[in-house]
Amino acid sequence: MGAIQATRGTRDILPDEVRYWQRVESIARDLLQRAAYREIRTPLFEQTDLFERGIGEATDVVGKEMYTFKDRGDRSLTLRPEGTAGAVRAYIEHNLQAQGGVQRLWYTGAMFRYERPQAGRQRQFHQLGIEVLGSADPRADVEVMSIAIDILHSLGLTNLYLDLNSVGNASDRQSYRQALVDYLTPYQADLDPDSQTRLTRNPLRILDSKDPRTQEITQNAPSILHHLSPASQQHFDRVQQLLSDLSIPYQLNFRLVRGLDYYTHTAFEIQSADLGAQATVCGGGRYDGLVTELGGPDTPAVGWAIGLERLILLLQKLQPVPTSAPDIYLISRGDAAEAQALLLAQRLRQTGLAVELDLSGSAFGKQFKRADRSGAIVCLVLGDAEAETNTVQVKWLATAEQESIAQADLLSPSAAFYQRLTQISQDPNY
Ligand code: ATP
Ligand code: MG
Repeated sequence: MGAIQATRGTRDILPDEVRYWQRVESIARDLLQRAAYREIRTPLFEQTDLFERGIGEATDVVGKEMYTFKDRGDRSLTLRPEGTAGAVRAYIEHNLQAQGGVQRLWYTGAMFRYERPQAGRQRQFHQLGIEVLGSADPRADVEVMSIAIDILHSLGLTNLYLDLNSVGNASDRQSYRQALVDYLTPYQADLDPDSQTRLTRNPLRILDSKDPRTQEITQNAPSILHHLSPASQQHFDRVQQLLSDLSIPYQLNFRLVRGLDYYTHTAFEIQSADLGAQATVCGGGRYDGLVTELGGPDTPAVGWAIGLERLILLLQKLQPVPTSAPDIYLISRGDAAEAQALLLAQRLRQTGLAVELDLSGSAFGKQFKRADRSGAIVCLVLGDAEAETNTVQVKWLATAEQESIAQADLLSPSAAFYQRLTQISQDPNY
């Protein structure tokens, strides 16, 4: 019988890769915490209705990408395809606006979309996202953009491009929609099949088409930026002014309409020049209509989501695997020594050190080799003689310098051993 493999569109994240994920998560968490964002964790599945209302039936996500199923109680449920709808549902359900002021939330986790798998595109993938609820101020738009850029910069990424657009308000879009349809109708037969259906259902989405011929046609389409009301224009001008004040470069892109129906005003994407076809690392914008759409009080909001797989692909391409070497590699041989080593490892960890215990039972020579490869600062050796005298051989791996120390002296933070070890581990040149 053949071995079972991971389902199409899903993948295992193996330990070497997980180190990148942990680095991203810890840098993002730290930065978001400093900007007063609070983490929210919502369920992996919700009532299908939430996404139909919150994302819109005419979008690809709802139209053809959702994992929808009936549970045993005959309820229609859907694995979340994105994080905003769930976060907003929770915001309404738990009356978070009653806490007053602006709510800043962030989340991370798995999302599910039935799409054709390829590099940077999976059926189970992960996003990190933020939402600011309760502010219509253009400063909120710029805050969220600058935080996305700060996270990406803190990870060492450069070569990033911020694409910016405004999709105005509902009535701006109504007038634009007509202009767009008027422009596209003569080309109807030349559009790709998806775009042909969108011409009546969701014409703005045609601007998003990846089909080369359709893209040629839309290149000269009218721009939504010529259909903004004075208030929408004012908001957008202020956003651009503030981006300039923060020295954040951007380029206007009227074809950037995002896939989801609830967006208003600012829409943006961050692309990486170092990624191939799936270049968009972060997508976001303002969604002033969503909270009321989902039954809550009128609440302006703005946010973004970063696709973590694409971010990790980039980091793997550009940076070596982040290290996770232990401070100490502990080797032992013989019953008494092995028992003492097990205990010693536990005690050393309690003092805050990272200790890897060799469990192989092989000859000391082989264990020494593994100690060298582990990247540890120091190797501790326990044989019969050391077990007898409650000592250890301490071998400083960088210099091969060796000394014998009483086990008890390893455990005291004031002892020379501990001092020397922490000194080396804090040395950036080590
Ligand atoms: P795309 O045009 O690439 O399909 P989208 O508009 O569907 O993107 P959003 O819904 O805005 O994407 O999601 C935000 C980010 O999540 C995307 O920019 C991307 O990095 C990531 N993402 C979206 N779908 C997938 C997927 N199927 N697999 C991996 N990452 C994804
Ligand atoms: Mg998509």
